[in-house]
Amino acid sequence: MYDYLVVGSGLYGAIFAHEAKKSGKTVLVVDKRPNIAGNVYTEKIEGINVHKYGAHIFHTNNKKVWNYVTQFAEFNRFTNSPVANYKGELYSLPFNMYTFNKMWSVVTPEEAAAKIEEQRKEAGIIEPENLEEQAISLVGRDIYKKLIKGYTEKQWGRDCKDLPSFIIKRLPVRLTFDNNYFNALYQGIPVGGYTKLVANLLEGIEVRLNTDYLENKKELDAIADKVVYTGPIDAYFGYTLGTLEYRSVRFETETLDKPNFQGNAAVNYTDRETPWTRIIEHKWFEFGKDEEGNDLPKTVISREFSSEWKPGDEPYYPVNDEKNSALYGKYKELTEKEEKVIFGGRLGEYKYYDMDQVIAAALQCCDQELH
Ligand code: FAD
Ligand code: UDP
Repeated sequence: MYDYLVVGSGLYGAIFAHEAKKSGKTVLVVDKRPNIAGNVYTEKIEGINVHKYGAHIFHTNNKKVWNYVTQFAEFNRFTNSPVANYKGELYSLPFNMYTFNKMWSVVTPEEAAAKIEEQRKEAGIIEPENLEEQAISLVGRDIYKKLIKGYTEKQWGRDCKDLPSFIIKRLPVRLTFDNNYFNALYQGIPVGGYTKLVANLLEGIEVRLNTDYLENKKELDAIADKVVYTGPIDAYFGYTLGTLEYRSVRFETETLDKPNFQGNAAVNYTDRETPWTRIIEHKWFEFGKDEEGNDLPKTVISREFSSEWKPGDEPYYPVNDEKNSALYGKYKELTEKEEKVIFGGRLGEYKYYDMDQVIAAALQCCDQELH
């Protein structure tokens, strides 16, 4: 018998398991994948930590979360500065003075602001009602056309006029020469990869991989007092109320026999025609070096293709629109009857959590449940 059965060895499950063990509880972790760490899993290929389920850059303003996570890994000084490639023209991201200079040859912040204002006025938008209008209001029509429209429509599979404006507000717009993608106090990549970080959290805890909880629910429920479930909430209830929608991503990863493919960790392809959204060159998350500081002779790249989720795919991005939020609300009501089960994490709560938010949510759950 265990005090807790934790379903899922991603960040949420691993933190809960770690804290439960620390409180003297017995814990069993199960994961249906052949590896621990959920979506932050990294695998070493040619000495490079490859982010197998999508590039993950840790960033947070939450000091408590930063102090917590740095107990389990040292973080490097990586700063995310993606480059946009529009039909061979390269632009700095997020939108800042380097971007405005390249787009319009403006030199001063006043000139950049005036150009944006001119394009906003021409478009006649007063109260932005969708992503297209919001984007033009923020950065003008030229940047919208070259750097936003194609990328967003590929990423979301929907027209920019049919998408909510908040999505684009995630990106900073700056009248300074600052290519840091995030406005975060703390940022970096765990030295040695995320898998090592999660393995440190799970040290001394029994983990069963290749074990699907829902397929073995009866036996597994029988051996634990309580369950912490971090899988998809609709799957838990057998999709009885219908399926929640997700965007999925397909990764095409290849090893190249050259040291440098694109000179940056992330290059976004912002035109509509290129079928992938971006290419990740994993070695640049760790400055092209191995753990001993040696240059790596080869490189590994991943092209990312965005698609609508269908049963059997990995669910990645919850589509938090009205329809899906309402359906999630109905599933949430069902959870109240499951007294033995705690639903947590990105899939269990159907929220597009960043890593730091998942960590904060897991720690809050531990406070309520264990202390
Ligand atoms: P997960 O990591 O999804 O873990 C859930 C685990 O449960 C999985 O291992 C799964 O196999 C297991 N599971 C599910 N169902 C079952 C079952 N029935 N039986 C057994 N096991 C089961 N955040 C950032 O802060 N920065 C980034 O740069 C960033 N980039 C991202 C890029 C992509 C492509 C994606 C998809 C997400 C990104 N995120 C990023 C978000 C980040 O991945 C999440 O916040 C975090 O990993 C969620 O952790 P979790 O434990 O909730 O879920
Ligand atoms: N975006 C864009 N062009 C880019 C990068 C991002 O238009 O080169 C838009 C796109 O709509 C995306 C949103 O900005 O969904 C938020 O970007 P972010 O990088 O935060 O997306 P994430 O993949 O983290 O959700």
